Amino acid sequence: MSTFISPVKIHFGEGCVRKISDECQALGVRRVIVFADPFLVTSGAISKVEHILSEHGIEYSVYDQIVPEPPVAIGDQAVDAVRNSGAELVIAVGGGSALDIAKAAAVLATHEGSIADYLNLTGTKKLQHKGLPKILIPTTSGTGSEVTDIAVFNLESTKDVITHNYLLADVAIVDPEFTYSVPPRVTAATGVDAFTHALEAYTSIQSSTLTDALALEAMDLIAKNLRKAVWQGHDQEARRAMSWGSMLAGMAFFNAGTAGVHALAYPLGGLFHISHGESNALMLPYVYEFILPSCLEKMEKVAFVMRVGRKEASTRDNALAALQAIRDLTQDVGIPSSLQAYGIEEKDIELLAQDGAKQTRLLQRSPKALTLDDIRHVYRRAIQ
Ligand code: NAD
Repeated sequence: MSTFISPVKIHFGEGCVRKISDECQALGVRRVIVFADPFLVTSGAISKVEHILSEHGIEYSVYDQIVPEPPVAIGDQAVDAVRNSGAELVIAVGGGSALDIAKAAAVLATHEGSIADYLNLTGTKKLQHKGLPKILIPTTSGTGSEVTDIAVFNLESTKDVITHNYLLADVAIVDPEFTYSVPPRVTAATGVDAFTHALEAYTSIQSSTLTDALALEAMDLIAKNLRKAVWQGHDQEARRAMSWGSMLAGMAFFNAGTAGVHALAYPLGGLFHISHGESNALMLPYVYEFILPSCLEKMEKVAFVMRVGRKEASTRDNALAALQAIRDLTQDVGIPSSLQAYGIEEKDIELLAQDGAKQTRLLQRSPKALTLDDIRHVYRRAIQ
């Protein structure tokens, strides 16, 4: 048995940002709050959105108090901003950080309390209603937040999430033109993040034939286009493929879930402030090196999608070739291959492992169970 949820209306393609006006009209809203990544405000890219809104007589205010990997306090300020704005709709334009803050703020604006009250691991309250409608416009090709029901917040030592169908966008507007300005390092980290979403969804114990199809297509697109998007950022075809691939990966992992890579990456963000994309990219080869025997057949298919599989080779050899292709991809786009590059040492392993092991929601989807000792072992490998 499998269940697939994807009720988000999606507009995709260069210039599709102009669909904002139709959607505002369809929702019958006259006053909007626009959550904008600060880069888009300083670079002027947000004026595309402002222009469309003013042209159609829609009142708006811009909120840009967004920080990467947002802590709960930043989320709470955003909730207040929506409550005080009188807006009938939230539009978010930015990377996963802006989208997640906006999703949570749109819902919590009509609830009591703080973001902390609704977090999965430590919260005590349940969401009661949908809150304000949301239009989400991603400007990085990574998180897939535009099609998931998740908002991620940084805690002191790790991350926690609010997940609920109420956090799903009413409309996702995926316009690759917004991603042309993403610098190589962020393109690399977010692109490997999207690949990780697809791969973890593909090997998740909750995968289905539908999520497999989405995940394989996403990995195909990302493996083919990420290097180009990083090193030739002006390549519009590569940017378009990455926007589509990261969205498909988002749809796959929203339904099949992510697993061990995310569980071990979260403490790197919490404790060492390494970005979400880089944390995943760092742990990806090491977690798959460990779990490989439990997903040989699927990894053989990944090898063919990444164009390193050979018909005459054994399943195991093809799976190993996929693992090597993943290592090559992360290195080719400039992601360091050891945690040492971030100053993380042997003495840090215990704290990381204790935090990673707390992510039982993620770990339970791994095709191979990871005990606390296994987690210590994987971190140790990642430091060598
Ligand atoms: P981000 O939103 O934190 O942005 C990273 C950097 O890129 C920032 O400095 C930002 O200013 C800059 N940036 C964004 N768009 C740009 C553009 N078009 N041009 C130039 N610079 C640009 O990065 P992200 O990886 O997209 O999001 C990370 C956050 O998303 C984390 O908090 C992570 O936990 C969360 N996340 C959410 C989901 C989900 O389903 N909701 C999934 C994965 C990760």
